[in-house]
Amino acid sequence: MILTDFDYARPAGLDEAVALLTGTPGARVLAGGQSLLPDLRAGSDSARLLVDIRRLAGLRGTTRTADGRLLRVGALTTLADLASDPLVLAEAPELAAAARANGDPQVRNLGTAGGNLAAAGRPTDLPAAAIAAGAVVELAGPGGRSTLPAEEFAARGAPADAVVTALLVPAAGPAAAFEKSADRATRYPVCAAAVRITPDGPRIAVTGATPRPLRLRGVEDRLRGGPYDTEAVLAAFRAEPRELFVPGRGTSAEYLGHLAGVLTARALQRAERALA
Ligand SMILES: Cc1cc2nc3c(=O)[nH]c(=O)nc-3n(C[C@H](O)[C@H](O)[C@H](O)COP(=O)(O)OP(=O)(O)OC[C@H]3O[C@@H](n4cnc5c(N)ncnc54)[C@H](O)[C@@H]3O)c2cc1C
Repeated sequence: MILTDFDYARPAGLDEAVALLTGTPGARVLAGGQSLLPDLRAGSDSARLLVDIRRLAGLRGTTRTADGRLLRVGALTTLADLASDPLVLAEAPELAAAARANGDPQVRNLGTAGGNLAAAGRPTDLPAAAIAAGAVVELAGPGGRSTLPAEEFAARGAPADAVVTALLVPAAGPAAAFEKSADRATRYPVCAAAVRITPDGPRIAVTGATPRPLRLRGVEDRLRGGPYDTEAVLAAFRAEPRELFVPGRGTSAEYLGHLAGVLTARALQRAERALA
């Protein structure tokens, strides 16, 4: 049952989409609909106008930028395409694995990278991978194009008057991984950890167990230079404040901190093996 009335628009271009979002209070972007439509049906969200961006050109697919250093993942790239794209598998494997771990085949076939990043209030998978990768979110808004580090985007949420157009991801080769413990009923992460091993040390981000997708700088500092064996990683997590982890259904902060440590250790070890 849809509880609220709303209008529907299918803009022909990005400028028109932004004008609709700016000019209509309560306007919402509609991409794959895999979060928005269930939320409207359940009454946990409302919209005055759905701005359907699915036909906008140039927002689908992954390419390498001219200098070779970044992957440009279009916001309308489906999670299924992201999970199986050879370029993403080779240069940002944590992103491909996060997309592959997402929901079920139907959700992955319809859900988009931009929607997974922008779905506010949900413990989604992709933001953790984007944060660990040091990715940047590209937006089109009333002031033109802008960019925001994925970590800041996760903290602030998607601006109401802007369209996410792409995710810009540093190309890193195989030294990255993503590990998830999924809620059996919903497939959302109880906890998931994304890691990327860089010359400056590991980058680590978690989702599900924390209030929002979060980079764990304290753990990174303790693990700089390695080793990444499970005991060392768990010790680094034990030294973190427990308030980082928010107890959910049947879980305690201690349990979630331990789970995050185990998943991070697995991811670091997987990334190390891929490098060898
Ligand atoms: C059964 C089920 C299981 C799921 N399991 C998981 C899971 O395991 N892990 C996980 O992470 N997610 C999971 N999801 C959520 C799903 O992956 C996301 O809902 C989906 O990726 C969102 O993308 P979408 O294109 O469908 O976005 P939509 O539902 O269309 O939009 C979601 C939100 O993002 C906004 N939005 C969408 N695209 C843009 C854009 N380009 N610019 C600005 N705002 C935008 C919309 O306005 C809305 O607020 C699950 C969903 C279902 C139904």
